[in-house]
Amino acid sequence: MKPIPDVLVPLAGKLLVSCQASPGDAFRDSASIARFARAAVDGGAAGIRADGPEDVRAIRAAVPVPIVGIQKSVQEDGRILITPSVAAARALVEAGARLVALDCTARGQRYGALDRLRRIRAELGVPVLADIATVEEAEAAADAGADAVLSTMRGYTEDTAHVRAFEPAFIHALKDAVEVPVIAEGRIVEPSQAAAALDAGAFAVIVGTAITRPHEVTRWFAEAMRKADRAASFLGIDLGGTNTKFGIVSGAGELTHESFAPTPAAGGRAVLLEHLKAVARQCVETARAAGIQPAALGVATAGWVDNRTGQVVYATDNLPGWTGTPLAEELRAAVGLPVAAENDANALAVAERHFGLGRDVENFACITLGTGVGGGCYVNGRLNRGAHFFANAFGHMSIQPEGLPCNCGQRGCLEVYANAAALVRYAGGAHATAEDVIRAANAGESPARAALRTYSGYLARGCAALIHLLDPQRLIFSGGLAQNNPALVADLEEELARLVTVWDRRGIQIRLSPLAYYGGVLGAAAIAREAL
Ligand SMILES: [Zn+2]
Repeated sequence: MKPIPDVLVPLAGKLLVSCQASPGDAFRDSASIARFARAAVDGGAAGIRADGPEDVRAIRAAVPVPIVGIQKSVQEDGRILITPSVAAARALVEAGARLVALDCTARGQRYGALDRLRRIRAELGVPVLADIATVEEAEAAADAGADAVLSTMRGYTEDTAHVRAFEPAFIHALKDAVEVPVIAEGRIVEPSQAAAALDAGAFAVIVGTAITRPHEVTRWFAEAMRKADRAASFLGIDLGGTNTKFGIVSGAGELTHESFAPTPAAGGRAVLLEHLKAVARQCVETARAAGIQPAALGVATAGWVDNRTGQVVYATDNLPGWTGTPLAEELRAAVGLPVAAENDANALAVAERHFGLGRDVENFACITLGTGVGGGCYVNGRLNRGAHFFANAFGHMSIQPEGLPCNCGQRGCLEVYANAAALVRYAGGAHATAEDVIRAANAGESPARAALRTYSGYLARGCAALIHLLDPQRLIFSGGLAQNNPALVADLEEELARLVTVWDRRGIQIRLSPLAYYGGVLGAAAIAREAL
């Protein structure tokens, strides 16, 4: 057996920590890397592995333990090579590295690794560690004089790409094949794996990511939780003035079953409640028949809702008798599941937040354009409900003094100028429905195009007021009038550029919701999930 270099002796049976951060990483500066090294040594690390002379120098000043220096460098094949030149090794040693590691895989060897290994040992007088991926590469490196072999590259070369987890058996095979120390490195993410590496014959163990890459570790947790989340399914019911839509939504936001039934809107509270209970029971039965045990039920309804109690605080005469209904309580009793209730426009905003265009922004408004005009707003990442659950009455913002009467009792409300009936009206009776006007306008037919422009002009006035109040990152439009209507986006952008102060500096995005007809069901299910 070849003698073990002095600098390696105190590392026997010990942990080394690889302290690296890629460009763009929150910790990508040498001072941060040095703090990681200090924390590692405080925790019992006997050595550090680091990339580049600057980091090595900063670590050298912070801790007394030996540093394994490497220099990652992109080659002409577009891939990183570890320590590609003697000059790079020299810079590492001059910065304070007591050992140098280099890529001695088959690819590394094509880049002259074995010759470089000999030269670094001879010219710089430091032990050289060989990063390898196979037993053959380890043997070649040991024959060339490597002072230790490291399993670092296992799983990261073309012929070992199938390896996804740390393999103690590979350490064992290396130990049998070479006479120099074998250091286990690569995909060791749990303390038990480090111990298993020693049991398999490793001389020492190097751990990197699991200790010094907080964003990676965070991702592991988040991913595991997302998978757990997928297991749960939620029922969503969206009580609309015309139809009640309902369905089963997986934790990942997939609508696995969906359907709708006409809403007996004029029937009064008792009739509506019986209708909702029947729909809820049907959802539960459908879920159970599909082998799904739903975790909770969410209901979105017109009117303002106290989301804490699930009671309808106030509803207009569109739903007679609905004010005061203990909605969640009644449904809970009917289906025996936890029930959450929310205003329907808020539910659409929640759907965007969980599954749509609100996932990556903290401040956005979701505006619904249909029979009525509604909204839901996220401010700093939270749904804004207001002090009395009456927030986001977007449709009743006044845009026209002494304008047309609104069913809320006021005049000049946005809703009267921006609902489906208004668009039909602007088209002068040329089209029977708003959908027809939208189709013609987007096909470039001139009277319909002019009607849509008129409509957009009114809608923009409301949007401008909202933007001046909330300064959102994105406006997301949903509902029937936002379907297949790119001309609306173009019109709004043009109008808002005119109406909004410093529009150019804000970069506000105008978007049509991708969630379509069952967005309210998705939102109701998401509310149930949040409530749990
Ligand atoms: Zn109104």
